[in-house]
Amino acid sequence: MAQVLCRRSTYEGTVVREVVRDCLDSLGGREIAAGSRVLVKPNLLGPAAPHRAMLTHPLVVRAVAEYALDRGAKVLVADSQAMGSFDRILKENGVREALTGLNVECRELRNSVQVDVGEPFGRIELAEDAVGADVIINVPKLKTHSQMLLTLAVKNLFGCVVGLRKPQWHLRAGVDRERFAALLVRICATLKPAFNILDGVLAMEGPGPGKGGIPRHVGVVMAGRDAFALDAAVCRMLGVPPGELFTHAVAMKAGLVDGAPEIDGDLPRVQGFRFPVMASTLFGPKALHGLMRQHLIQRPLIDDDACKACRDCAKYCPAEAISFEGREAVFDYNKCIRCYCCLEVCPHGAMRAEEPRLGRIFSRIIDRK
Ligand code: SF4
Ligand code: SF4
Repeated sequence: MAQVLCRRSTYEGTVVREVVRDCLDSLGGREIAAGSRVLVKPNLLGPAAPHRAMLTHPLVVRAVAEYALDRGAKVLVADSQAMGSFDRILKENGVREALTGLNVECRELRNSVQVDVGEPFGRIELAEDAVGADVIINVPKLKTHSQMLLTLAVKNLFGCVVGLRKPQWHLRAGVDRERFAALLVRICATLKPAFNILDGVLAMEGPGPGKGGIPRHVGVVMAGRDAFALDAAVCRMLGVPPGELFTHAVAMKAGLVDGAPEIDGDLPRVQGFRFPVMASTLFGPKALHGLMRQHLIQRPLIDDDACKACRDCAKYCPAEAISFEGREAVFDYNKCIRCYCCLEVCPHGAMRAEEPRLGRIFSRIIDRK
């Protein structure tokens, strides 16, 4: 049974520093050897200010980096973003300012090396800095995710797939959420972060993980050595069975989950947390899949009033399912693999995922059975 710590916290500098120190001390962080290479891996998805709750808060990142520096480690703070320049992310989220005065390197993950992550994926390319680190401190944000339900400790390590390889993997997994979850689980099991520190002070609910998500104060920092256990503890806090989290269901099947997490601290019960609608994906005979994609299964939609026609969604879409007629986006739902990368990267929060009317009627009929 893996231990998960839950501590009340704010973003006040000394408070979060003490909370992070207490968590890492309790988890054996003092064993981090002087001179070891420590990768601090926050969620730095794209440019966003801390109040949007999209990225790991800069003062949580600072607290973790300071802890590793105090152990005499060589600290690298890095991620591979989905959108925007890394410099702009550091500026907008305040990470650059927060790390001022600390002897840490902070940059984008760029180079990849081939690593065997196990069946069924075999050798895949992962960030060299992650593979070569002596210690990975994974620092995810507590957020909803329109494809995977939540993005927590396990999903955060997908940032170690560098640059455009991320959408390529989405394309390979297609509409199969379980296959994509299996990839995330294999990456986590391969990289084996030594510590996971989750920023759940200002979390995100609703149609996350991009700017369409809604900030929600939860007020906790949670930590554990086992990323799967940490994710399960967050599910318990939010009132959702851990088996409903795709990555956790896959990890359980693969024998990677060591029972229910043992909670150290006061785990709050968060009431009424809003999850994204997780409508069904394709099922039944292949001949009907085209019709289902068009009329039944959940799909991305644009709020025309909020859209600024920047075309970032089309640029990032791995399936090339978005085109433009003038300023108006047009979706090819037969091509769309429902990865919701477009929601993730839209800088104006103009996208949402919605089940078509016919799909809603169909879901209601299925639910009644
Ligand atoms: S939906 Fe978002 S990303 Fe796409 S064009 Fe509009 S503002 Fe840009
Ligand atoms: S349109 Fe959006 S959800 Fe569909 S494949 Fe492209 S990025 Fe993914």
